[in-house]
Amino acid sequence: MSYSIYKVFIDAGHGGSDPGAVNGNFYEKDFALDIAKHTRDRLNSYGVQTRMSRETDIKLTPNQRAAASDAYGANILVSIHNNAGGGTGIETWKHDNSSSYVKQLAQAVNNKLVSSLGVRDRGVKSAPSQRGENIYVIDPVATKAWAILPEILFMDTIADLEKLKSSTFRRNAGYAIADGIISFINTLPPMQ
Ligand SMILES: [Zn+2]
Repeated sequence: MSYSIYKVFIDAGHGGSDPGAVNGNFYEKDFALDIAKHTRDRLNSYGVQTRMSRETDIKLTPNQRAAASDAYGANILVSIHNNAGGGTGIETWKHDNSSSYVKQLAQAVNNKLVSSLGVRDRGVKSAPSQRGENIYVIDPVATKAWAILPEILFMDTIADLEKLKSSTFRRNAGYAIADGIISFINTLPPMQ
């Protein structure tokens, strides 16, 4: 199987003046970027083409992220976030208007994350979006790519934050996202 025909756009959530969820000295924008870089490295090791929305601490609008994915011609877009609001574990979002392929992609990535990391499975979830919201990045109105948004543990839950503080855990999370994308690609009919 040649993976080099596939392009994956990896979006690290938040950045710059938008830190995302904050707990003490720990910022979602930093965790998300570190996980995203590991996803990129793992996908590249399979031969998948990748591009990142950001590799440094800069702020981008949801529309800029989605537009960059389409300009790149990405087949798949993954927007990486960490959760907040009380709870534990992993959930993966799709948009209400996304195709059945996106649901399969979300399920594949969610399954790999949960099995690899041994954390609570909160499942695949679906929502609408408003322009300007984080989830707008994965709205089919904004991007042609099959797009999902995994939320990797909760910044405001102590046990989850302790895991996120581990560079090994973040690497494993990034690898699990990549492995989930690969297992989804493996279910697709051959592309010309
Ligand atoms: Zn976020």
